[in-house]
Amino acid sequence: MSRILEEAMSYASPDGGADGRVYLPTLSRKLTRRGILWLGLTCNLRCHFCYFLDRIEDPAHPQHDFMSLEKAKAICRTLVDYYGNNSIDIQGGEPTLYPDIYDLVEFCALIGLSPTLITNAVLLSSREEAVRFKEAGIRDFLISVQGLGSTYDRIVRREGAHVLQMKALRNLQEADIPFRFNTVLSRAALPQLLDISKLTAGTGAGVVNFLGFNPFNDQQSGKRSVENVPTYDEIRKPLEEALNYLIAENVEVNVRYLPLCLVSERHRPNAYGFKQLPYDLHENDYASWSWTDLPAQRTALSELSPPFGLGRRLHLGALRAPVRRLDRRWPKLGDRLHKIKQALERAWAKEGDPSRDTVALEKRYQEDALVRAREYTGYRYVAGCETCSLRSICDGVYADYADLFGVEGIRPIRLGKAVVDPQHYTRQQFKVIHPLDRGWLEETDPPVLEAYAGREIPGAGE
Ligand code: SF4
Repeated sequence: MSRILEEAMSYASPDGGADGRVYLPTLSRKLTRRGILWLGLTCNLRCHFCYFLDRIEDPAHPQHDFMSLEKAKAICRTLVDYYGNNSIDIQGGEPTLYPDIYDLVEFCALIGLSPTLITNAVLLSSREEAVRFKEAGIRDFLISVQGLGSTYDRIVRREGAHVLQMKALRNLQEADIPFRFNTVLSRAALPQLLDISKLTAGTGAGVVNFLGFNPFNDQQSGKRSVENVPTYDEIRKPLEEALNYLIAENVEVNVRYLPLCLVSERHRPNAYGFKQLPYDLHENDYASWSWTDLPAQRTALSELSPPFGLGRRLHLGALRAPVRRLDRRWPKLGDRLHKIKQALERAWAKEGDPSRDTVALEKRYQEDALVRAREYTGYRYVAGCETCSLRSICDGVYADYADLFGVEGIRPIRLGKAVVDPQHYTRQQFKVIHPLDRGWLEETDPPVLEAYAGREIPGAGE
């Protein structure tokens, strides 16, 4: 064990060696019914790759302040009543800072919207706070573990934050509150990826997601550079090591928002782009996400806008091309373009319904995935992609990646025929679910597996 991991575990590991794994393994798949809510972009850390950094640092920005409890509850009600959501990711900024967070968690649990907080967990270093969340009805926490030791403190720009986060992990284990991890693949975090994986297994975190350092939202304005963004070739080796370790330890691991050719064939079941995300119960429902992402739902002082479904997108699909051209010509239009995209999204959606007809809904989700990858977040195919068998199920590369690094890290996959099923790989992955999801997931699907023991991991050992 490295010195840095040993030190982290000395804070994070409870004396009794509690194991926080409550999640159940499954091969069943359904469209996610998880909603999302941004309470306001206020935070106690300053991660350099944060999607919302400008808005967090600007107290005058209309999305900076937290919204009222009344508004947050009205959004949650709509997610249940109109979109049929049954769980929710509550984000801030940092949602543990929200003054009414316990009331909101309690409300969500009461109306059948099982609540997860996406958090840096710094405030959960207080045992009292952690226990209050449990009493309020929290489902689990998704904790942003962006590095370990002084590396973490530098990434989040707050001295002492790592130790507080590790103490939080201990509190959650001792209070029997489940948690999962998110880790952004920043250049600074890469050498620690294996240690972060060992921390995941050692603390009983149910899942770890490795996320690309993305040019989304505020990062569109030129903060990504050759200094802070790792190349795909730099990511490959540490990521492969981490994936091998986690799969051997029976920990669910997902690689998000990166080209499928970044991981080897045996790890492709763990790779998720926009087309695969709808089948991950820990990801968000595109229908309700499109609604909560509108400024009206993200700004403390705005009136809520009416909810909508995802219908009639194809009829207005002609609008996509001009937006794409705009985006290419002025990639840094930032907020203005974001608003245009949101207005289009609303226009495409406004005559739809939130039907849970699975076939129709899956089709709509795939259309939405395309919009999100192309227009919304600016992914592109580059030289080589045209000959790749996975092109139809891969988002390609970030808009600015080829400008920063060229296309050397892109390695087209040639399988002899094109793969068109977005779940071609991911349906082989063992995923875990919270026990609360067991009932509705099993309604028509094969039963959740009782245990990992004796199972074979598809793809392993190839
Ligand atoms: S489509 Fe392009 S980015 Fe995606 S896997 Fe193929 S070569 Fe890689």
